[in-house]
Amino acid sequence: MLLLKNEIKFMLKSKTMLLLVITACIIMTIGINSVNMSNDFDLFYIKRSSSTISFGSAKFGASICSLLFGLFTVLTLDKDKRKRSKAIIESNQSYYKLMVIRILSIAFYELLVTLLGMAIVMAMQKLAYGIPINFSYYLFNYLVIFFPSLLFSTLIVSGLYLLTDSLDISFITLGVIFIKSLTSTNYLFTWVQTNIDILSDFAGIQPVGNTILYNRLLWLFICIAVFSIGLLFKRRYELNLRSSFFVNIKNKGLIVLLIAAILGSGSTYIKEPYTMELVRNSDAVIAEEIYLNKLSPRIIFDNEKGEMSGEVIYNFTNKGSSSIKFNTNEGLKINSIKVNEKETEYEKAKYDNIIEIPIPNTEKIEVIISYGGKIKSDKNSVGRGMPGYISKDSIYLLENSNWIFRPLVKCGDSIRISGYYSVPDYLTMVVPGILVATETKDGMKKWMFEYESHTADIGAFAGKYKKSQITFENMNVEFYYSPRHEEYVADMRIEDHIKDIMKYYTENMGQYYSDIYPLKIAEVALYKRGGHSSENVITISENMLNRDKSMYQTISDGGSTQYVNTDVFVQDISVIAHEMAHQWWGTGVNVVENSPWSSEGLAQYSSYKYIQEKFGDMESQLFLSRWESRVRELKNYYYINNSEMLDKVNEKYRQSLEMERLQSELYYLMPIKLLRGEEALGEKEFLKRLGRVYNNYLLKDLTFDEFLKEMGLSEEVMEIE
Ligand SMILES: [Zn+2]
Repeated sequence: MLLLKNEIKFMLKSKTMLLLVITACIIMTIGINSVNMSNDFDLFYIKRSSSTISFGSAKFGASICSLLFGLFTVLTLDKDKRKRSKAIIESNQSYYKLMVIRILSIAFYELLVTLLGMAIVMAMQKLAYGIPINFSYYLFNYLVIFFPSLLFSTLIVSGLYLLTDSLDISFITLGVIFIKSLTSTNYLFTWVQTNIDILSDFAGIQPVGNTILYNRLLWLFICIAVFSIGLLFKRRYELNLRSSFFVNIKNKGLIVLLIAAILGSGSTYIKEPYTMELVRNSDAVIAEEIYLNKLSPRIIFDNEKGEMSGEVIYNFTNKGSSSIKFNTNEGLKINSIKVNEKETEYEKAKYDNIIEIPIPNTEKIEVIISYGGKIKSDKNSVGRGMPGYISKDSIYLLENSNWIFRPLVKCGDSIRISGYYSVPDYLTMVVPGILVATETKDGMKKWMFEYESHTADIGAFAGKYKKSQITFENMNVEFYYSPRHEEYVADMRIEDHIKDIMKYYTENMGQYYSDIYPLKIAEVALYKRGGHSSENVITISENMLNRDKSMYQTISDGGSTQYVNTDVFVQDISVIAHEMAHQWWGTGVNVVENSPWSSEGLAQYSSYKYIQEKFGDMESQLFLSRWESRVRELKNYYYINNSEMLDKVNEKYRQSLEMERLQSELYYLMPIKLLRGEEALGEKEFLKRLGRVYNNYLLKDLTFDEFLKEMGLSEEVMEIE
């Protein structure tokens, strides 16, 4: 204890340590603005709050300070070799002890820097920005993200130094592990600053908190393992690596620690409970001889535990199939499966999350699956593209999380969907289709709904929402957003924009597809970027409703509003317009995908036209040039133009390249083609014919050939060089 005190005092006197502490605090202060310094358009001018300020400074600070402290650690250890007589230390036989004391005193300073930086950033928030402090965000971000990053860096580099006995090699290796952490999309590897970009103001830490803590646990084991290995190979006086090892291995405590740490990291890695590999539905084979006609989910959410349970009834028409496959989510465990009222066993198919259920050779098949558990996310999309989560304050479940097991069968002409979601009564549920009734009992509210649809894609979204109604002609919009973002929604006239978009599409393309079903627009957490549309429900991520309004300074003059710093705002509105356009192209008209043709191209084109109308050519031109540069990139892609090479690269990489190509074709190439078509026909004529296509194909399938024929266009006309 005395030794530790002395070492801490000794370090305090060193100028390097003083400089390090000051630098770290400056870096954390700079980090307050880190989201605006990235080139991440979605996050520009996000409203400052305790969560964004503490997360930004802790994350930015962790990335630089972990390297600085790593360097300091390795220099301190190396100093023993250079300055102090090694022999004296060796004869003391307490080198282990000394090592541990060194590390502990560095850890002490890391903790000091953590607390000091936290205090400075809190003071900045209060004094410079006048934003009230929410202490829990600070504690989480500094003690779970910042401090461990520094500690891990110190432990790893010490272990490496002891192992290699070389300053250069150990620090360079740390650098490699550091870069791996910054570039990985797998949340388990991102030990430096987590793979979250920002904490959600809408949903809080909860949906991602467990994964951040789990990452910390894994790396604690890894770091202890690396450090123990280092100690095992630490050079003994006048002995080489091998002989030192045989002396060191006699230390039983060390061996126990090493084995425990290796077992710990191994099992933490293998038994990771939050993610899975989601199989895309497009990769799975759809059975041709069986149709889904009816779907009835009855789901109860336990938000406190983050769980769901319930049963789903599926009705099929069978024309000669002997089994049905379902795409499932691994986190949800099956309690029982009944086929035509008979208890039935299932089999796991080729992929882990696909199950196969045998069915009798009858025309009418009813399958009832009763199941429950916690939704698993995709390994590489934690925090950025999460397909689903259930937390205390919100529910976000997209159809592609397979939270309702998805039968890999054909869809009938129309599928009757009816059922209920039961949630704690403090939450507002956004249900698909139309809400028929609600029922409150014992603190739980049951939301009953009905829907007639051509797909079985249904989601579930809940939050502490405020709801407004917007009406234009036959179209009703229900807009659900967080009361925390009410001021922004009002100031930026978001509801007016939604109404304008409804008006523009109705006048230029045609009436909204349904008199019965309202369009529901729900704000959701930034843990899934952008927007999403399925059936009559659209979700938009919170960044579109939570920017710092001082950045815009809305100027009103005589009723018309102008925006300073328009680009980010126009981008937000364009996402809303894109998702709303899917109600015409996607839900209204079923656009049959055949790349580059899909509903995405038409949605992009529609939102482009709205932006052009509302904000002028200057702004819409920005979208066009972005699309054009993406298409150019696509052309220049070496592998994509070179199928021989494509066969040689690994399967995962090839898949991601092809995914990227498909995205570029659907989202960027197709809208450019449509604009070429518009150029050829003239804007007025093009829109007139587009409206005719919409009306003729309402609630029907539309292929590219049919589209060209109806529009009087040819592929040659729309060709781009
Ligand atoms: Zn889209």
